[in-house]
Amino acid sequence: MGLLNLLFGLKSFTHGIHPPYHKDTADKPIRRLAFPSQLVLPLDQHIGKPAIPLVKKGQEVVRGEPIAKADGNFSVPLHAPATGRVRDLELMPTPKGPKSTAIVLDVYEGSTQEVLWNQPREMSELSREEILQAIQDSGMVGLGGAAFPSHMKLTIPPDKQVDTLIVNGCECEPYLTCDHRIMLEYPKALIRGIRYAMQASATTQAIIGIEDNKMDAAEVLRNNVSKGSAIRVEVVETKYPQGSEKMLIKSLLNREVPTGGLPADVGVVVNNVGTLAFLGQLLPLGQGLIERVITVAGPGIVKPGNYLVPLGTPVRHILEQAGYEGSRTEFILGGPMMGPAVSAMDTPITKGTSGLLVLNEPSIEDESQRIWPCIRCARCVKACPMHLNPSMLGLLAAKRKYDEMAQDYHLNDCFECGCCSYVCPSNIPLVQYFRISKAINREQAA
Ligand code: SF4
Ligand code: SF4
Repeated sequence: MGLLNLLFGLKSFTHGIHPPYHKDTADKPIRRLAFPSQLVLPLDQHIGKPAIPLVKKGQEVVRGEPIAKADGNFSVPLHAPATGRVRDLELMPTPKGPKSTAIVLDVYEGSTQEVLWNQPREMSELSREEILQAIQDSGMVGLGGAAFPSHMKLTIPPDKQVDTLIVNGCECEPYLTCDHRIMLEYPKALIRGIRYAMQASATTQAIIGIEDNKMDAAEVLRNNVSKGSAIRVEVVETKYPQGSEKMLIKSLLNREVPTGGLPADVGVVVNNVGTLAFLGQLLPLGQGLIERVITVAGPGIVKPGNYLVPLGTPVRHILEQAGYEGSRTEFILGGPMMGPAVSAMDTPITKGTSGLLVLNEPSIEDESQRIWPCIRCARCVKACPMHLNPSMLGLLAAKRKYDEMAQDYHLNDCFECGCCSYVCPSNIPLVQYFRISKAINREQAA
């Protein structure tokens, strides 16, 4: 922890990096985009089993209506983001990479923005189990990017003792500001969502962790929390990857999640601010998740900002609405450090997509981007928040010693934050090597 942090009492973790943050859209209020003429709704927008379609080709649906049901407990349903007619179920590109089955919906021209399907409920009358069921029925997943079903995350295994809900308001990835705007604009819904999540997980305290580059959000939320409440706001150092679960738990509570373990192993459950703000809105109304806030930014975007978009909106439509001047054909869905790059313009915004970035790509003739041999400078070692040895892991990856990477150098503790690649003066794409090595190990194990 740096000297300044000690002096000013800012909580943090060791290692990590300070990339340029480019949070220029932080002052752009959330605006709703016009509906596109077609929505693409993959059945596997979440971790777990894909949803099972409830509609068939040619069927009319209204905004908010369930169009796919959960396949068992480790799955969530899907709801129609707009009124229209089902064109078909087709294989479509997704942010994950491979094509997958999606419900393609032709949106009626002039389709209403009013949600036509809801089942209002009195939240104070619900038991813990009923709240968890309501969360699953809403189709909610982690909106920070992980897309893990929220009801599963809040279900605490009987052998674990969990006391604290950490509410992740760090948004440590450069460019992204949608969570910042959600904290400023939906504070009441967020506090309601935190209370529902505390009931569902039976936690006794909630800590909202916010980086110190968002002091206005910390102030707004402090003003919305009553004195003596079990919910409090804590400011942490602005540093990447402060918003990763393990780092934030360490920063706020000084607890360390063991290798291969979960936050519940140290008495914690973590949820993102966007997820809880939407839960706070949707649960009392008995509605499903049909839209989300994304940051649209980067050079070449004419009207950068934070936009409320229906799920399934294709990249092409957003670029048309936000204005795009440039020749790039590759876009990043999410933050620049961890978000996947996509090239198909009909790739849709899904539940886990927090941003659409158009960044300048260095040309392949650019000498400064050439990959050089490792010079053993140890910058990657000093940057790795998991205290791994990326340099050694990189050398072993080059020799295809994947087993050794996992057994002796804890490859599986790497959560692909990209800090090592970012600092490497030799431009070695370490994180890509680790992603591939883990995939090969998984395949071999299977
Ligand atoms: S990508 Fe993995 S190895 Fe590299 S800094 Fe992040 S956690 Fe460490
Ligand atoms: S930062 Fe790059 S050059 Fe330096 S030790 Fe790590 S891998 Fe080698």
